[in-house]
Amino acid sequence: MIEHTIQDTPVPALGFGTYQLRGTACREAVADALAIGYRHIDTAQAYENEAEVGAAIAASDVPRDDLFVTTKVWVDNLEPGTARRTTAQSLRDLQMDYVDLLLIHWPNESLAPLEATLDALDALKEDGKARHIGVSNFTPTLLQRAVDHTTIFCNQVEYHPFLSQDALLAQARSHDLLLTAYSPLARGQVLDSDRLQAISERHGKTPAQVTLRWLVQQEQVAAIPKASSAQHRAENFNIFDFHLSDEEMRAIHTLAAGKRLIDPTFAPDWEQ
Ligand code: NAP
Repeated sequence: MIEHTIQDTPVPALGFGTYQLRGTACREAVADALAIGYRHIDTAQAYENEAEVGAAIAASDVPRDDLFVTTKVWVDNLEPGTARRTTAQSLRDLQMDYVDLLLIHWPNESLAPLEATLDALDALKEDGKARHIGVSNFTPTLLQRAVDHTTIFCNQVEYHPFLSQDALLAQARSHDLLLTAYSPLARGQVLDSDRLQAISERHGKTPAQVTLRWLVQQEQVAAIPKASSAQHRAENFNIFDFHLSDEEMRAIHTLAAGKRLIDPTFAPDWEQ
């Protein structure tokens, strides 16, 4: 397993994303992910599965300290009192005293200024309810405002071979924060790339494995693929026995074509 050390905290570079996993399927998927070796789990209030994620973790024999668990405060809950109250509910559902990372899921200042929401998350951190706080879907301008106000541990954004995140990566590195890649497999579309196919054949791997390796091999980048299939979960974790050359890393970077899969325009304050 590759770990990145961010602000003195080790973070497993490969995590398990749980979007659209619900009920028993979610509990079983997280239990299986933990058995495979995943130690970084990504959930959110909006996924309506914190209780199932929590139940799977509670039933496993993995010590809590060995895990890195992220949840996210939804856009409707960013008023400071609501952020505190809903995070308390998240922790009850997760059966945890704290999460490792608490994120603002999408920017939305219609309920409170960004700084006020960040202050609420910082208060939760001081109370021991979150080890770190961060943001998700923040553009360079918004991220700069956040880091000017407080210590930000992470920006979680869409990142895969077809969408460059060079500006956010440079910013992450200059502020010692993690860039977490969501939809890292471009929701399965990486399988269709001839270049990824060619590189994967050279290594005896699949295009999904090469893509995940490309992400976690980058400084300060984590990836959180979601897989409802057990075979995909195992395959995605099997990326620590090979290495991409500098030339291969560059060749994958050149696939970037501005392809965004998640339409951000529903979020009131998202702008490129
Ligand atoms: P993704 O991980 O890029 O793609 C998931 C899709 O790829 C599923 O259809 C899955 O199929 C398939 N897949 C997984 N492994 C595969 C493999 N080895 N070979 C072929 N296909 C494979 O996309 P995502 O679910 O959008 O993103 C991942 C996680 O990022 C989410 O679960 C969530 O935790 C997070 N996320 C965050 C935000 C945000 O706003 N912060 C937004 C989107 C996502 P099966 O399910 O059939 O196995």
